[in-house]
Amino acid sequence: MPQNQRPLISLVAPCYNESEAFPHLRRELVKLADLLEKEFAVEIVLVDDGSRDETWPQIQEFARGDSRVRGAALSRNFGHQLALTCGYDVARGDAVVCMDADLQDPPEAVVEMVEKWKQGYDVVHAIREQREGETRFKLWTASLFYRTIRGLGASRVKADSGDFRLLSRRALEALRKMGECHRFVRGMVGWVGFKETEIRYRRKARVAGETKYPLRKMVRFAADAIVSFSIIPLRLSFAAAAIFSAVILGYLALGAMRHLIFGGEFATGWPSLMLAVTVLGAANLVCIGILGEYVGRIYEQVKNRPLYFIREMTNPLESAAREPPERNPE
Ligand code: UDP
Ligand code: MG
Repeated sequence: MPQNQRPLISLVAPCYNESEAFPHLRRELVKLADLLEKEFAVEIVLVDDGSRDETWPQIQEFARGDSRVRGAALSRNFGHQLALTCGYDVARGDAVVCMDADLQDPPEAVVEMVEKWKQGYDVVHAIREQREGETRFKLWTASLFYRTIRGLGASRVKADSGDFRLLSRRALEALRKMGECHRFVRGMVGWVGFKETEIRYRRKARVAGETKYPLRKMVRFAADAIVSFSIIPLRLSFAAAAIFSAVILGYLALGAMRHLIFGGEFATGWPSLMLAVTVLGAANLVCIGILGEYVGRIYEQVKNRPLYFIREMTNPLESAAREPPERNPE
């Protein structure tokens, strides 16, 4: 960076059908950017994740009126984690902050994150101390999710961290080298290391509109996170196989002993047969299912497709120049 140039802060938000929340987001981003501009240069990167409402025209309009705004529209809906990945690829800042478009992540907290970055931290996690306006079910599933994923060995995933964070340029470049197609960004960020710290904040209720994470997407997200960050489920299937085998062998040994000593029947009959067949059959299917989850992901990974495509950028010159970045270069 040239000496006389101010450091650039990028504010990144993925947006999917956020037209109701957008006017609020726009107002708050402008306020935040104005505040940060006292000390830094600022850019606002908005990624439209294949919205079917007015989100993209709203982003275009915002960009026309404010030269700090850069918008990218994806070719379809790729999901939050990939829209976020696109935002990270497009951002040019020395520090990059990503946040939800629904203002659940309060822009005021960004100032505190930037302070930490100035102190030399590369990764600033924002930990949710309280979550307003979320259903009990969401709170319970979120807490179960973090306990499970950490219990399965992904201890680098910060509990209650979400995707509201600041990354320094070098942490971001490290993250961008990771080529997995099933992306669980908060786990990947924990994995890259560097100097980490955290701030605490109250997560607010959505400013407008509905959550874009219905149960189906949440389950998919949790499965991606677990399978991409832990092989413990595979080991569990091995442990289950060992336990079942031991139980069945013990049962047979007991029957054989009874037969030798008392001359009774030796593990014969319909119930014992059915028990062995159904229990072992079910255990087998579960293990194959777990294995399948991993094999399916290997299959998708080896195809090595680009993670997303940009259909259009608000600046047409950028649209022409942009190609999907190469990941995992040989
Ligand atoms: N989002 C996205 N693509 C999707 C789903 C969500 O870009 O397929 C965006 C959404 O617009 C928001 C952020 O990801 O900015 C988080 O989504 P949401 O707030 O609906 O999730 P929640 O906070 O309810 O978990
Ligand atoms: Mg949200």
